[in-house]
Amino acid sequence: MRTVQSFVRGAWCQGNHTVPDVNPAHPSTPVAQVSLASTKLAEQAVQAAVDLAPTWRSTPAPARGEILRRAADILQQRMSDVALDLACEEGKTLPEAAGETARAVAILRYFAAQTLEPDGETYPSHSAKTFLYAVREPVGTVAAITPWNFPIAIPAWKIAPALAYGNSVVWKPAEIVPLTAIHLVQALADAGLPSGVLNLVLGRGSEVGDTLTTHPGVDAITFTGSNQVGRAIQAKAVALGKKVQLELGGKNPAVVLADADLDHAADQVARGAFLSAGQKCTATSRVIVERAIWNEFRQKLVQKTEQMTLGDPLDGKTKIGPVSSEQQFKTVRDYLEIAKKENAVFLTGEPVPEKGEGYFIMPVVLDGLSRQSVLVREEVFGPVAALLPAQNADEALELANDTPFGLSASVFTNDLNRAMRFVRNLHAGVVKVNQETAGLEFQVPFGGMGDSSSGSREQGKVAREFFTQWKTVYIDTF
Ligand code: NDP
Repeated sequence: MRTVQSFVRGAWCQGNHTVPDVNPAHPSTPVAQVSLASTKLAEQAVQAAVDLAPTWRSTPAPARGEILRRAADILQQRMSDVALDLACEEGKTLPEAAGETARAVAILRYFAAQTLEPDGETYPSHSAKTFLYAVREPVGTVAAITPWNFPIAIPAWKIAPALAYGNSVVWKPAEIVPLTAIHLVQALADAGLPSGVLNLVLGRGSEVGDTLTTHPGVDAITFTGSNQVGRAIQAKAVALGKKVQLELGGKNPAVVLADADLDHAADQVARGAFLSAGQKCTATSRVIVERAIWNEFRQKLVQKTEQMTLGDPLDGKTKIGPVSSEQQFKTVRDYLEIAKKENAVFLTGEPVPEKGEGYFIMPVVLDGLSRQSVLVREEVFGPVAALLPAQNADEALELANDTPFGLSASVFTNDLNRAMRFVRNLHAGVVKVNQETAGLEFQVPFGGMGDSSSGSREQGKVAREFFTQWKTVYIDTF
């Protein structure tokens, strides 16, 4: 059995206690043991990153990019091992895990290429003897705190730009996905990243979190996870003068209008709601359907949902694996009990599962809920979608925007005018027409409105906003 450890100043370091890395499909057979870091080790990790920050920022940007490019190649060579470990510890199907690893490779390559892009602007000065320009410099030392649901893609879209733009990093992945984290760190180390530039802390958020987010050496924190933890980190860190970027939850609507291609819409809604067991911040959780097609669409969605085979992530027939942990299983189950109390009609997914060997939950389509119900207002983060009828497009738009979140939203229609009306008026950071709410490209900005995000967007060229700061330079020559 493998034991995985933190990586500090280029060395694998033992923590102060060990816990099993659980396979959510087979919880009684752990995939590894995780040695969890103490706060002392977390402090050493931050100190290593702080010590290496000057070396890394003075490394020419194209040389930094070359290391990222090599890491991408290495990760690509190791793709099948990474995907297997990811599927076994997180519960995604093997094709989903391979797809996510391929995405991490592409992200590393994208930010490698960004190191050859212009890093500033020149300006005409009011003075004839002044050369006036502004240049982007690294922020310094970045703490990256990442969740379990995309254990390699999310870390890649934080760590790759952080490194490309010259920052040193201390990274805390979610405690339940350490093996995947090790693969990313090892690929960067093997690619020649100097020791101490990227440090990995395997530890519980409740134990090492404060050290990483309040340490005076940390200049910026990039976080993806729950609203509760994200907002608490933000409150503390901003008070200490740190830069903070948060990607939080969603309650993403898919609106199906009467003129849509209903087969396509049902397929996309089922994918958006249930792939990766619905554990995506961009997952579809409210399906708003125009009355005129209510019965027909509902039937089609149920049919598509019933075709999605639930099973072992390593079985080729499986479309949906288990939810990622016992905690997640309990959370989703509790929400389904609330749904029953709210008199929801389960169109699929009954009976609500008891805990057995594996944290499996059938995809659930709910009908009969009001817009005030808990299942329509709160993020479930599991394979659960609620259907809501709308009399017309006006009411559909109003329902879609009736949430404090604003991450992703879809509209299904063949009418360009109606589509554009939704594009203009949906309150969401990502809007899609005739596509599922989930599924992102990495070269464009990603983030949400309202309670879904805070700070500048991630991914694409705009990632530079968070990981750099402007320096304006006035040079007089005589
Ligand atoms: P959390 O917000 O608890 O965890 C996200 C990350 O933050 C993990 O690495 C976690 O570490 C870390 N963390 C936890 N507490 C602290 C702290 N005090 N200081 C610093 N870091 C901390 O999410 P969960 O994993 O518990 O999931 C709970 C819910 O969050 C889900 O049901 C879902 O609703 C939402 N979520 C949203 C995601 C998104 O993509 N927006 C992703 C994942 C979850 P550790 O795991 O060790 O506790």
